[in-house]
Amino acid sequence: MGFNYMQKKYRNVIIGAGAGGLAMALFLAKAGGKTLLIEKAAVPGGALGSFNHKGYRLDAGFHFAGALQDGGIFDEILKMFNIRNQINPIFLDSDAANKFNFTNSSKTVNFPYGLERLKTSLDAQFPGETQAIHRYFADINSIVERTPTLHIKTLHIVPDMIPEDSITFKDYLNSITDSILLKESLNALVMCHGSAPSEISLADNARLCYGFYESICTLEGGGASLVNAFLLELKKYDVDIICSEEIAKLADIKDKRVGRIILKSGAEIELESLIFTINPKSVVDILPERSFPPAFFSRVNNFEDTPGFFTVFATLDDSAPLQDAESITSLYPIDDIDRLSLPGWEKPGALAIMHSKSDKKNIVTAFEPLYWSTVSKWKDSSLGNRPEGYIKWKTKKTDEILNRITDQFPSYRGKLHLIAAATPLTYRDYLYHHNGAAYGIKQKINQFNLIGQLRIRNIFVAGQSAILPGVLGTIMASILVAKSIVGPDKFEKIIKTH
Ligand SMILES: Cc1cc2nc3c(=O)[nH]c(=O)nc-3n(C[C@H](O)[C@H](O)[C@H](O)COP(=O)(O)OP(=O)(O)OC[C@H]3O[C@@H](n4cnc5c(N)ncnc54)[C@H](O)[C@@H]3O)c2cc1C
Repeated sequence: MGFNYMQKKYRNVIIGAGAGGLAMALFLAKAGGKTLLIEKAAVPGGALGSFNHKGYRLDAGFHFAGALQDGGIFDEILKMFNIRNQINPIFLDSDAANKFNFTNSSKTVNFPYGLERLKTSLDAQFPGETQAIHRYFADINSIVERTPTLHIKTLHIVPDMIPEDSITFKDYLNSITDSILLKESLNALVMCHGSAPSEISLADNARLCYGFYESICTLEGGGASLVNAFLLELKKYDVDIICSEEIAKLADIKDKRVGRIILKSGAEIELESLIFTINPKSVVDILPERSFPPAFFSRVNNFEDTPGFFTVFATLDDSAPLQDAESITSLYPIDDIDRLSLPGWEKPGALAIMHSKSDKKNIVTAFEPLYWSTVSKWKDSSLGNRPEGYIKWKTKKTDEILNRITDQFPSYRGKLHLIAAATPLTYRDYLYHHNGAAYGIKQKINQFNLIGQLRIRNIFVAGQSAILPGVLGTIMASILVAKSIVGPDKFEKIIKTH
């Protein structure tokens, strides 16, 4: 696969080799034509990748997937890409995959997976709310039915707007129940996408959460196993990948087409299509101002970033009895997830705690959503070269999170050892995420995202901010955009071969 600097002509050049870029490259390569994937980091994978620290392999971003059960949409998509057999899902406890702990009211809600199991469990935990619960699941099912991207036979069809796209999730929940605890339990998966209940539509929330209602699993070998599966499959096709490289400039722009790109290293590449799978705000930094109206730039620059995470990775002694190791335990300090998810919350926020293994060692990872504004005062620093104020703040916050973990799991006291901690600054500098945002831009109601073909007709945009974040949403965006690049006939052929 390596890059041959003599080869300077490609049909497709893709910028960014995360889930979006890898899926895009595989799809376009299957359609034929030489494809080049350009990645700024030293290795491909982006937020799917892992890193080694103090002898542990840790996941940089992605930790768990939904819809990977037999026949689930993620399972079907990976089969279509011919990589499903290289992925080994480890399913969480189906009876308590998620546990939501509302710490101020000392209430815990079990949130199993499997739509029927989940419905039955919520019925039992919220007596008197049966009508609201059944209405909720009927509405969710109906939205999913009308979302073509969530079905393998129609996943290439761009979803039409439906009425549920025009009501916020918060307003919808208020319309079906007065139970604060039920509303907050249904809100709790906001940590999987980063847009507050008052910002996201009922329809997008349903599309994002449905897969996690069906099943939740981690992957043996973490997200890196998905990266390796893509890379292995890409080897069968005419694809080059170059890392530690990025675009400096677009050149030969005429008749609304770009003919050539110039890379930071000085290499020049001729191309037929250029596809960005990076954050839209990073895309507009590269586009030439004179080829787009100012309103286009201000629209994109006004997209709001999702929060990033303050993440703590710790190892647990083998002697510590594991607690809820097959569940994701999320702590909510107040019964108001909307407030916790919007900028401005200053106290310790929500905290998702999960267990995994790294070479048979127990790993506990805890994520607290955190906005860029908390760390922006240190924005001029770089990895390994942070000011004292930042280091002090980070150490204090790390200790606070370790204490929250041991308060939740008292048997871990004295047996939990810090491996590493990451902040939105780390994610910015390590994953090249704009402002360290975990999920790109927020998916706000009535927002017109940047996706597909641009005004320079052979430039396209996909990636996690294009339709929905998360690995599944990101890969879906690649499939939709790939269709508009290769055309419907070739597209059908690729889909049908699998
Ligand atoms: C901490 C964290 C936890 C997460 N947990 C989950 C989870 O459990 N489940 C889930 O489904 N999703 C999760 N996500 C989200 C999920 O990982 C992302 O939605 C998805 O991986 C995004 O893929 P992408 O290709 O759009 O972006 P990325 O993975 O960010 O890939 C973009 C790539 O482009 C590269 N790049 C950036 N700028 C340039 C440039 N100028 N030139 C060349 N290359 C460039 C980057 O280095 C990167 O490799 C998590 C994300 C984070 C950060």
